Amino acid sequence: MKITFCGAARQVTGSMHLLELESGYRVLIDCGLDYEQKREFHRGAKVNFPFSPSSIDLVVLTHAHVDHSGNLPTLVRQGFEGKILCTPPTAELTSFLLLDSLKIMEIEMRKKEAHRKKGKKGLNQGSIYGFRDLNEALDRLITLHFNQDFLVNEFLTIRFQEAGHILGAASAKLTITEKGKKRVIGFTGDLGNYSSKLMKDPTPFEGIDFLITESTYGGRVHSATRTPEEELMHYIDETCVKQPGRLVIPAFSVGRTQAIIYALNELYEQGRLPNIKFFVDSPLAIRTTDTYTKYSEYMNEESQAFMRKYGALFDFEYLHYIEDKRGSERLADHYEPCVIISAAGMVEGGRIQEHVRNNIRNAYCTILIAGFCADGTLGHRLLSGQGHIYINGKEFPVFAKVAKTDAFSAHPDHHGLKTFIEASGGKNLKGIFLVHGEESSMLSLESDLQLNGYDNVFVPEKVEQFEIL
Ligand SMILES: [Zn+2]
Repeated sequence: MKITFCGAARQVTGSMHLLELESGYRVLIDCGLDYEQKREFHRGAKVNFPFSPSSIDLVVLTHAHVDHSGNLPTLVRQGFEGKILCTPPTAELTSFLLLDSLKIMEIEMRKKEAHRKKGKKGLNQGSIYGFRDLNEALDRLITLHFNQDFLVNEFLTIRFQEAGHILGAASAKLTITEKGKKRVIGFTGDLGNYSSKLMKDPTPFEGIDFLITESTYGGRVHSATRTPEEELMHYIDETCVKQPGRLVIPAFSVGRTQAIIYALNELYEQGRLPNIKFFVDSPLAIRTTDTYTKYSEYMNEESQAFMRKYGALFDFEYLHYIEDKRGSERLADHYEPCVIISAAGMVEGGRIQEHVRNNIRNAYCTILIAGFCADGTLGHRLLSGQGHIYINGKEFPVFAKVAKTDAFSAHPDHHGLKTFIEASGGKNLKGIFLVHGEESSMLSLESDLQLNGYDNVFVPEKVEQFEIL
């Protein structure tokens, strides 16, 4: 059989790996949007798959994040006719995230259309997919719970296991029997951080021959010395208690927002939260939070015990969810100390951008970045410590404090990755392929593993193909 690394090869986004069996059966592991090649995100850009979409028999979707799922409607649009296998929470979260992704593309399109009408340079092309493609992709989702064997055909069995990361995130174990020989391949998808706030620890693979693993935080170590609750308490205290300020937290709608709300809920139950308002301003986060509650059995024991004891994980007296746009705009007039949690996490687009713009000149405000911010995003520019910053082409002086925490990270760091790889077979595996990381992160992890005696690590190039023997 052959494996081709069609995406997330020497980069983070665009996860897509093609497995071709001797029988001709073709499985695609993930089909994600490539943010590094931003053109894919621009309306009208044609996605060129390095294979014929109609030749794919089955897609295995590890989790809902758009860099793993975002090209599924385009795959359908270009001729894919098979099923998409994922866990039940992933199916629900994917429907919300893909719809949101399409709306963002529509907004991009309208901006470009406005530019074009003004005689400025811009595109005027159709979207890479439409609602019909989206709905058709969602109709193809079929679900499989963790730790159950799915017999695809006489050659192939698939099993999902706990990856941590976000609700429903799976690592996929594929057992292939060809010419009387059995080969087992483990695809990690995105792994979660160990001892995460909501999710269980990732489960290492047992009995695999080959490992394809994410390496997002290769070469980097999480530096947070405080627990997530203590980290939040510190910034609430400094910003909203010792001074009459507001704490603005950009957070991804899936995972990060829920972990922050749960940590706040714990502090509330401990009687430690000041009596101020805590706003969650993101319609997408409201929907995805409901999914977390619906599938609470997918979360870790501590979270489930908290839910049994207090009745809710994501609800407490001082918490206010804001769905409508006017409610969001009214937050600008809320002059009492408060905490605002809003999407998107990298401060690119979404309601958070308005909150940052409204508060960037407020010396009593702290903007707490709680996740990875890619180069080129507003979050990244804020963290660079510039005295002035451009938001939508307008310059603002930065008087607000900008802080960063990795206490809520949804990925294992360098040590966590090594632990997982070691526990999944390590040096004894026939091959370990590093994907889903910046090239420097992958090379750092590769060299550390080599220093520890590994001679089976590969960092594939994009569309590089390997024969699996
Ligand atoms: Zn992910």
